[in-house]
Amino acid sequence: APLAHSPAVRTTCPYCGVGCGVLAKPDGAGGAAVTGDPGHPANFGRLCSKGSALGETLTLHDRLLYPMMRDGGGALARASWDAALDRVADGFKRIVAQHGPNAVAFYLSGQLLTEDYYVANKLMKGFIGSANVDTNSRLCMASSVAGHKRAFGADTVPGNYEDLDQADLLVLTGSNTAWCHPVLFQRMLANKRERGARIVVIDPRRTATADEADLFLPIAPGMDTVLFSGLLTYLADVAAVNWNYVTEHTAGFDDALARAREIAPDLPTVATKTGLTESDIARFYAWFAGTRRAVTCYSQGVNQSAQGTDKVGAIINCHLATGRIGLPGAGPFSLTGQPNAMGGREVGGLANQLAAHMGFSPEEVDRVGRFWQAPHMATHEGLKAVDMFDAIARGEIKALWVMGTNPAVSLPRAAAVREALSELELFVVSENVHANDTVSAKPHVLLPAAAWGERDGTVTNSERRISRQRSFLPLPGESKPDWWAVSEVAKRLGHGEAFAYRSAAEIFREHAALSAFENEGTRDFDIGGLDTLDDRAYARLAPIQWPVRDDASQTARFFADGKFFTPDRKAKFAMPAEPALADRLGDAFPLWLNTGRIRDQWHTMTRTGRSQRLGGHLPEAFVEIHPEDAARFGIVNGEYARIATAHGKCVLKAVVTTAQQRGMLFAPIHWSDATAGLARVGDMVIAATDPYSGQPESKATAATIAPV
Ligand code: SF4
Repeated sequence: APLAHSPAVRTTCPYCGVGCGVLAKPDGAGGAAVTGDPGHPANFGRLCSKGSALGETLTLHDRLLYPMMRDGGGALARASWDAALDRVADGFKRIVAQHGPNAVAFYLSGQLLTEDYYVANKLMKGFIGSANVDTNSRLCMASSVAGHKRAFGADTVPGNYEDLDQADLLVLTGSNTAWCHPVLFQRMLANKRERGARIVVIDPRRTATADEADLFLPIAPGMDTVLFSGLLTYLADVAAVNWNYVTEHTAGFDDALARAREIAPDLPTVATKTGLTESDIARFYAWFAGTRRAVTCYSQGVNQSAQGTDKVGAIINCHLATGRIGLPGAGPFSLTGQPNAMGGREVGGLANQLAAHMGFSPEEVDRVGRFWQAPHMATHEGLKAVDMFDAIARGEIKALWVMGTNPAVSLPRAAAVREALSELELFVVSENVHANDTVSAKPHVLLPAAAWGERDGTVTNSERRISRQRSFLPLPGESKPDWWAVSEVAKRLGHGEAFAYRSAAEIFREHAALSAFENEGTRDFDIGGLDTLDDRAYARLAPIQWPVRDDASQTARFFADGKFFTPDRKAKFAMPAEPALADRLGDAFPLWLNTGRIRDQWHTMTRTGRSQRLGGHLPEAFVEIHPEDAARFGIVNGEYARIATAHGKCVLKAVVTTAQQRGMLFAPIHWSDATAGLARVGDMVIAATDPYSGQPESKATAATIAPV
């Protein structure tokens, strides 16, 4: 019977990086009523369509409930946890013994909780001895990480969400905020309505975000660095540079300005390269130069690029030049895509990070090794996502454990990824559904993972705010949290003492203690003030922004004091390369294929696909095309079209619209073979990556289109 009086549990939405607080009131029958948490400072009770439909996604239908193993004949059968964990541990042990630690890898997810992420990183980087731990966050915001580190000396988000309420100019570049960070966009619109803030949107597509803009700049793909280099030269030419700030707190301005003048020497050149009108560019530049409280938000349109780090650098350059960073209503602001991309970064979930925002310098390897008392510390960076799957295809990585993500759909050249997976000697997947494309790629071991509503831990949102995800439903079947499964494998590998965790709280305390270990204020990530939380305090932990230092001091914004995390404490201006796209158009592939999200679906739809209401928004995979291109290629609105690139092809329903620029196509990433036949766009995406961040260029692959 429904438990009419069961209390609502405060937890956090599992979708985007806004990190909204939700109240989940279990109904006693496996479901829950979900509403926004008025007390959460990210959303103050608001939820978007995805968050408010969470209650409709709580079903055990299609859930993976028991461990499964494949026998020698290829058949998958139910197994005990002991047998499955033994097989994982034996396989990893054997392959490491035969081929060394770099023959094994973990591929994780921005959906994991910080505690899951922490334990997986610790096992691989400290006890197996490889840094081959990467995550689908590589596809999301790795270029922001690299851009932050290059400019600030650390992966630090300077500002917070209040800046979006307090800014007088909001520049949104490469971000369909209205659909991908809807609750933040509502805050921005409230600022516009109540305070008169202006909104500038820079995007090749006319999106729902662009519809609300005071100025929309439909930029040519990949040319963000031209626009922001032009802005830097403009700021210098109109005496809008804050020389005190530049002199006291930064290094490299003169060189960066000289580079900007090479890339964007004058307005006509900027207009030619970006495809924008001179008057629109001039208006944007004048607004930026004349508005002290300016925030530049950027997301996947900037990050998902073979020059993503340079784009981030070109944006940050303009904020450094004006000293508009770390101040109320001013700063560059990376909007992270996933619910815990930030938490993953904090524990070192990327192959080029160690833990607690440390890297692979000998001092940092030594420090983390001593803290963990680790026998086999990785001493250098591991393979980033695209390289990791290439190494699998070459047979260099022989064992892979995928947790909570679906690389067989989401990685570039997804068909080649699926083929590579079949080469593995040991392929392990932790999942909570038993049907998706990665599960279809025939893992040897399938482990049932706890899902949202059942698991317990923390996530960090785009403004560095740590919030609890709390369980409000029992663990179904034999499913378990990922941290438990990793710890059990660690014990079987002989590391029982270091992985004797009994709760997420215990892991969190260790993570917090590591962040403060030998941290004399020279590392940004410090939550040492939380390392003594007892289980009760952890259970009740209210959303809190880091840093939270040992003395409980906090910093609402970084860099207000002009001190950065570089050796000389000065920020570094970036020197971007000449902007260019990685792929080339030609007769065979004359159009640019852009990919992205839609409002009511999330990733590969394993959760949002369960809600009929969400499916009603845009029920079918589609490709957008400009009317002139549609006429040129014989495409009819509402009929199916075949899209092809050098890497793959798929069939999508055509949507003919002027929202799409001439010469460009747009297709959403969500559908896959498991959900819509031939609609897997990841198969078509080029695997070119940024040289610093390793993030793939998912926004511009040369393509063609034809009627079916
Ligand atoms: Fe969830 Fe993001 Fe929507 Fe908030 S804005 S409810 S975090 S999907």
